[in-house]
Amino acid sequence: MFCRYKMPLLEVIGFTCTGHNFSVAYAFMAHENEESYAWVLRNLQHLFNGKVPNAIMTDRELGLIAAVKEVYPDVQHLLCWVHVLRSCEEAALDYTGDPDKVAQYKSECRGLFMSRTNETYQSRKKGMYARWGMYPKLMSHLEGTWLMDYHTNIVCAFTDHVLHFGTRSTNRAESAHSMLKTALNCAQGDFITVVDAIHRTVTHQIHEVKGHLEMARYKSPHPGPLAWLFSRVIDVVSVPCFNLLQGLYKKVAANQYDVLCNDKWFTTSLGIPCAHDIADCLLTQTPIMPGQIHPFWKQLCWDGQPGEDPEDFIPLNASQVISYNYTFLDPYDLAHIH
Ligand SMILES: [Zn+2]
Repeated sequence: MFCRYKMPLLEVIGFTCTGHNFSVAYAFMAHENEESYAWVLRNLQHLFNGKVPNAIMTDRELGLIAAVKEVYPDVQHLLCWVHVLRSCEEAALDYTGDPDKVAQYKSECRGLFMSRTNETYQSRKKGMYARWGMYPKLMSHLEGTWLMDYHTNIVCAFTDHVLHFGTRSTNRAESAHSMLKTALNCAQGDFITVVDAIHRTVTHQIHEVKGHLEMARYKSPHPGPLAWLFSRVIDVVSVPCFNLLQGLYKKVAANQYDVLCNDKWFTTSLGIPCAHDIADCLLTQTPIMPGQIHPFWKQLCWDGQPGEDPEDFIPLNASQVISYNYTFLDPYDLAHIH
């Protein structure tokens, strides 16, 4: 049916604390425009009884971005760094024609996006304008396509006040996308057959996610040095969270942190203590406590026995970061499905 009408399919995903994707929704859309995207988002909101996600990440799909603003006005919208950087890279190649300069430019863009304060952002931006001023078209691409309208959706100084658990790109959505694409390539048939392929993909995904969560519950990571520091959280948090904490501890042990606490973004965007909290633990010889970690990282059950603290339990749902992968299936991709 949609072969003739060429309906795009939107996939919405979330992810677990073990770093695995789960599908939140699939939607066939009439068009790739704001109205259709808004229709999907309103249905999504309805599906989750009005519960809103912490953050929504998309590519630079203007219709989708406008719809997110309309339906979720209070949710932080994030733009995928991989897409932004790719666009900057292409522009640099077009306007400089020099691969060495392209690499340099891309790394400066990344540095700009990683600015932790507005002041750093402004000064790095000024520096870039000075260094790349001989390529005015390149600078107007950076400003006009990205910074002017979207710096608050890209730069850490503006995005890291919301919990996004370290999400900087929609790559995870793309891997989910390729999985369904494989299933659809084998699907020779009508709408029902395609829905069936989606169903099989989701079923497979649930098995996988459950398996990973189970593994996380029964297999502790190696505590490394200072086992006492992690003793209260090692069996409570997922491995990616444990690795974040270990990374912070190493920073503190190597004295690689400022005297002033300017790294609260660990707490606001990742839901874990900052370097200074870890330093406090070391100083007072107190282990890191589960209460210092956001419930997301402790969600090691699919359907819900509470963890150490019953208050901590939150069911797996769209309340985490959601990536909308609008590129999922475009009309061209659907054209060969009969
Ligand atoms: Zn701090």
